[in-house]
Amino acid sequence: MPFDIESRLRAPEAYSLARDTLDAMEKHKVWPTSQNFELWVHFVCDPTGPLGKEIRRIIAQGGPFTDTACQDLASTYLGSAKLTTEIQDTGDALTKELQSVSMAVKAAQKSSQAYGATLQQASQSLENDPADLRETVETLAAATRQIQKENKALEARLTESTAEVIRLREHLEQVRRDATTDGLTNLANRKSFDAELERMSDAAEAEGMPLTLALLDIDHFKTFNDTWGHQTGDQVLRYVAGVIGQSGADPRIAARYGGEEFALLFPGETAATAFNVLEMIRIEVASRILKRRSTNEDLGAITLSAGLAERVKGERGSELLDRADAALYASKRNGRNQVTSSDNTAGGV
Ligand code: GH3
Ligand code: MG
Ligand code: MG
Repeated sequence: MPFDIESRLRAPEAYSLARDTLDAMEKHKVWPTSQNFELWVHFVCDPTGPLGKEIRRIIAQGGPFTDTACQDLASTYLGSAKLTTEIQDTGDALTKELQSVSMAVKAAQKSSQAYGATLQQASQSLENDPADLRETVETLAAATRQIQKENKALEARLTESTAEVIRLREHLEQVRRDATTDGLTNLANRKSFDAELERMSDAAEAEGMPLTLALLDIDHFKTFNDTWGHQTGDQVLRYVAGVIGQSGADPRIAARYGGEEFALLFPGETAATAFNVLEMIRIEVASRILKRRSTNEDLGAITLSAGLAERVKGERGSELLDRADAALYASKRNGRNQVTSSDNTAGGV
């Protein structure tokens, strides 16, 4: 039977489950946040499941359950578990909806067949006994009214169902978008970018096409945050993401790769083209004097460093990423606010 935490939490023994969970958390010195509670409920209910196993492994190592460790557990185990359930629920609802529509259509087919049979009978009785005309017409009128009523009901059911299927499809699409998009910037997130990178590397290898990858990182962003605050920092991240996103239109892919780090993938494009695009982005960002929205205060300009690498034959996505990262590091080392291109050999900058 699948592990169903929802019903366990609604069951009469939910209080003792909550008590056991809090006891376990106390024993292992886990801070009582709601997220940690969710993690440990899973552990208490299902100690042999994937999350339970990982928690037991950490306990066996002697812990500790730091904020970061708990955060990692939650993003690895809770997020995807929720997502899978949501996708499954929506899928089930779609299947149910389609089954019910197909039943309604079958019922309507039966009614039409019956109506056809009534017409056939009427035509026969007119042939055999034309004097009975009045009765035959009454039968026909009643059958016609009935089929009209049923057709109307079917039409209403189909309209309702089309709306429901559209709603469910949009919900699935939203769940998929949430899973692949970074919430702050609306660019692709790291997970979806990594998957695209491997997919594009395979495609580039198969088709013998170039593929270039760039990594961009905001310079001295910690100092910016320390000076102007995290919220203003977030606005800057959105602004930079906007500039990068404008150059990242399809078939290019733009992503937020980490805190203040971005990635751009250029399928079918060489390092020379990508270099020019990155220079445009760098100059655009560096030349903009930023203003704080609420107070119009002058925040100065920020700069970006970037590194890029063009894929060589046989190179895997992760290797290409390492070379772009090394090129980015060279930009930082050489004074920041610049773009460095890897020398196109696997391993070197
Ligand atoms: P460098 O030029 O070497 O890249 O210096 P840096 O300060 O940008 O790099 P470092 O890695 O030391 O610090 C990155 C900073 O980025 C730390 C943190 O304050 C900031 N940062 C990361 N993610 C976010 C975020 O989501 N919002 C905000 N506002 N800041 C973030
Ligand atoms: Mg930085
Ligand atoms: Mg960084």
